[in-house]
Amino acid sequence: MTLIVQKYGGSSLANAERIRNVAQRIAKTRAQGNRIVAVCSAMGDTTDELMELANQVSSRPEGREMDALLATGEVVSCALVSLALNALPCPAVSLTGQQAGIRAGGFHGKGLIASIEPDRVLHELAADRVVIVAGFQGVSEGMDVMTLGRGGSDVTAVALAAALKADRCEIYTDVQGIYTADPRVVPEARKLDEIDYEEMLELAAHGAKMQPRSIELAEIYNVPILVASSFEDTPGTLIHREVSMEVRERVRGVTYDLNVAKISVLGVPDRPGIAATIFEPLAAGGVSVDTIVQNASVDRLTDLSFTVARTDLRHALEVVRPVAEQIHARGVNHNDKLGNVSIVGTGMQFAPGYAARMFRVLAEANINIEMITTSEIRITCIVNQEQVHEAVRVLHRAFRLDVGASS
Ligand code: ASP
Ligand code: MG
Repeated sequence: MTLIVQKYGGSSLANAERIRNVAQRIAKTRAQGNRIVAVCSAMGDTTDELMELANQVSSRPEGREMDALLATGEVVSCALVSLALNALPCPAVSLTGQQAGIRAGGFHGKGLIASIEPDRVLHELAADRVVIVAGFQGVSEGMDVMTLGRGGSDVTAVALAAALKADRCEIYTDVQGIYTADPRVVPEARKLDEIDYEEMLELAAHGAKMQPRSIELAEIYNVPILVASSFEDTPGTLIHREVSMEVRERVRGVTYDLNVAKISVLGVPDRPGIAATIFEPLAAGGVSVDTIVQNASVDRLTDLSFTVARTDLRHALEVVRPVAEQIHARGVNHNDKLGNVSIVGTGMQFAPGYAARMFRVLAEANINIEMITTSEIRITCIVNQEQVHEAVRVLHRAFRLDVGASS
């Protein structure tokens, strides 16, 4: 029998009617002779609402209690999906992350799955029940609830698919799949039929709405993922290793992120060990740093700029300011009105000229570039936040993603 791990996102579970719809879909797939594990996110905007509530009762909510709070959102939706299934009737059981054997380590709010002991899940499947697992959570060695970071249910789904050696992993959401750009910004954006892990990882890490760690995991364990709509029966996008050769030679997508802030440490002495002195405490504090630029030094002094998620800015500044003083830097400034735009495609790897074209297109749209970073298959420009959407549109057009032609 085929074992399928499905994941349903918050918008697919936003109210009772949608939960019944999800239950119907699960029951239908089971009736076709499949065994199913369904990972659920919290209903609608529950996670944001719980965070907001926490901020109303505490100005510094601590990680352990935040995790205890946020994990309840997924527990609620799982119990409701299981109730809806049983009512059909379709035999189902809901499990929390802990009950599903998901062990997690790392920082509260940013937990990492350490291992999965799926005995209970396997036992329930053997008893012919659909197993509904709470996404976004695991339990630490000390038996505390750990959440896995925003969008963490994607990680839960892929990790379970790997641990259970599932035949398929299907991620159901409110859009039809992965697009060449965000369709809300670029109406001509096209849905991709397939994409490889590398490209998807770059898209996800730079704005596309999937948790990037889930793509990393999928690549390591070679789990193909189908991303599709939970509202319509359309084919979706297959994320996998092999993508037909013909579609490789071009830019595959344009992504953006509005959640970017830049910190500059000015007048830093240019000597060995300084970068480590600045970035080590940030890493220890769990702040991930994205783009880093160090200027050429003048009189043995240099400026060091880097970007962080805007949501991490306050914390990052608290860490960086004392360090800057300690190394006698001239000062620290920041800009929280930035965003980034990226073009992604494995086809860029061996073809020159993509960066130049990207810069020209942005220049013609009068968009100033603050910082630039690249990987082998991605070029990212940091620009003013209010110009990000326009940047996405002009790049999508310039690289002819709307017509799907080779560029
Ligand atoms: N509910 C969590 C969030 O909104 C986890 C998830 O949806 O995957 O980030
Ligand atoms: Mg959510």
